[in-house]
Amino acid sequence: MAQLMDGKQTAIALREQIKIQTSELIAKYHIIPHLVVLLIGDNAASMSYVRGKELACQKAGIKSTIIKKEDTTSQAEVLEIIHQLNQDSNVHGILLQLPIPKHLNSDFIINQISPSKDVDGFTWTNVAKLSNGFPHLVPCTPLGVMRLLQTYQVRILGKRAVVIGRSQIVGKPMAALLLKDHATVTICHSKTADLRAVCKEADILIAAIGVPNMIDSSYVKIGATVIDVGISKVDGVIKGDVDYDSVFPIAAYLTPVPGGVGPMTIACLLENTLTCYRDLVGV
Ligand code: NDP
Repeated sequence: MAQLMDGKQTAIALREQIKIQTSELIAKYHIIPHLVVLLIGDNAASMSYVRGKELACQKAGIKSTIIKKEDTTSQAEVLEIIHQLNQDSNVHGILLQLPIPKHLNSDFIINQISPSKDVDGFTWTNVAKLSNGFPHLVPCTPLGVMRLLQTYQVRILGKRAVVIGRSQIVGKPMAALLLKDHATVTICHSKTADLRAVCKEADILIAAIGVPNMIDSSYVKIGATVIDVGISKVDGVIKGDVDYDSVFPIAAYLTPVPGGVGPMTIACLLENTLTCYRDLVGV
């Protein structure tokens, strides 16, 4: 039977630490950490995520500002906002909520964010640091997975890790972080031959696919740690990539969905905001 990795409780503990650190930093330097979220368009899911981030900031004592723009906003206007935020010494973190409307070039816009304010770790400067083994500001979801593995003292060094998914947001940075901690890492994707056999070799299996319940026990080695990053809505119910009932009896550790990786993502956004703050304030 697997031990559940409780992302909710772990995130609460991490957010409590961040709250304490924030109040100590404000008391010492008299500067309030400030995250600005740029939301373009009316995507309902994005609006709900942004509200969640705002609430999390408030609870941690971090100032948050949401800049909401219409979905017809031009690329020039978006760039002007980002350039102003880059210059503003009262702003420590900048987050562009994705997805953005199709007429905007998200890669280009993201790379106009100052790398030192890049709380999502998506700029190529921060991606290059991670790829070269010097992670500093790294994407919040894979960082959250690493914090969960650390909390549950899952050994990474020398272990065989398999990451299913090769996105810039989850799969690739996840693999880079595991490699940095000396796992032997394989990245799989939709064209991987014999995915089941590759996964079955994993001591640590990370599913970041977006296909509900795809990973059943036939993909999992007995005693493996299984991290389910996937979030899909099936008939109004949130499902992960892992078939929980099938995998639970044979895994050593397993993250539930919801209540696993999701809460860690927001906690790590707060962590990254404080990292930016420390860099910019110079403390
Ligand atoms: P993407 O769609 O960008 O990437 C999905 C990856 O899965 C791709 O690399 C794709 O391969 C691979 N894939 C798709 N189908 C298969 C298959 N049948 N077999 C093997 N590989 C497959 O998604 P994201 O990385 O952005 O997100 C992945 C999941 O994680 C989603 O469910 C998303 O909602 C969730 N998520 C959860 C977060 C959280 O906080 N818990 C945060 C971010 C994402 P290919 O590259 O070949 O197309």
